[in-house]
Amino acid sequence: MITFKDIKKTYPDGTTAVRNFNLEIKQGELVTLIGPSGCGKTTTMKMINRLIDPTEGYIYINDKPVSDYSIHELRWNIGYVLQQIALFPHMTVRENVAIVPELRKWKSKDIDERIDELLAMVGMEPSTFRDRYPSELSGGQQQRIGVIRALAADPEIILMDEPFSALDPISREQLQEDILKLQKEIKKTIVFVTHDIDEAIKLADRICLMKDGEIVQVGTPQQLMNSH
Ligand code: ADP
Ligand code: ADP
Repeated sequence: MITFKDIKKTYPDGTTAVRNFNLEIKQGELVTLIGPSGCGKTTTMKMINRLIDPTEGYIYINDKPVSDYSIHELRWNIGYVLQQIALFPHMTVRENVAIVPELRKWKSKDIDERIDELLAMVGMEPSTFRDRYPSELSGGQQQRIGVIRALAADPEIILMDEPFSALDPISREQLQEDILKLQKEIKKTIVFVTHDIDEAIKLADRICLMKDGEIVQVGTPQQLMNSH
C-alpha cells in the first residue's frame, strides 16, 4: 500500500532528517513510528502526502509514485491528524468536518448522515454537538473532531502525528480505543507517530523504531519486546 524506497531527506539548511529509510506498509495495517524527538518521524509522515518531498528515493502508494498523483488526490485520499488541534474557530463542528466532503461535492444529505455517524462513533451525541463551535468543546472533544474530520471523506490512508499527546489520560485512552475499533472495522491503513512506547504497543500491528533519521528495528510489538 505505502512503500518507502531508499528515502533520504536533507533540509535546505543541511540537516539530514531521514536516511536509508525502507519500509512497506500493508493495506489495513497500523504502523507506529516511534523514537525520540528529532529522529525524523514527522518528516517521514509529511513525505507521504507530499507536504515535503524526499531528496532521494521514492514513495509509492499502491505501486504508483506519490509524485504521479495530483495534490488533490493526495489530500482527499489521505486523512491527516495533527498534535495541535487545528479546527477553524469560526466554523461549527459540522462545517469543520464537512470541508473535504464538500470539496469532493458530496450531497448535503450524505454529508449530514456521515457526520452524525462519525459523531456517534466517538461517543458525541450528534444533536448536541453538530452545531457547536470549537470553543464550546473540551480539549478531548476538539481532538475527537480533529480525528473524525480526517476520516470524513473515507480516506484510504490516515496519518496521525502524536494526535493524543495534548489530552488528559482518560480522553487519550478513549480515543485509543476508538482508533483500534476503527482499524478493525473499516481496515484503514494508519501511520501513527508517537514517542510513547505504551501507546505504540497498544495500537500497532507493527512498530517502526527510529533513531537519528534511520530505522533501528521493525516488528510486531511482541517481536520488539522479546528482543529487549
Ligand atoms: P516534534 O518532535 O513534535 O516533531 P519538533 O520540535 O521536532 O516537534 O518540530 C516541530 C516542527 O517544527 C517540525 O514538524 C518541523 O517542520 C519544524 N522544525 C523542526 N526543527 C526545525 C528546524 N531546525 N528548522 C525549521 N523547522 C523545524
Ligand atoms: P520528529 O518528528 O521525530 O521529532 P522531525 O522529523 O520533526 O523529527 O525532525 C527531524 C530532524 O529534522 C530534526 O533534527 C529537526 O530539527 C530537523 N528538521 C525538521 N524540519 C526541518 C526544517 N524545516 N528545516 C530544517 N530542519 C528541520
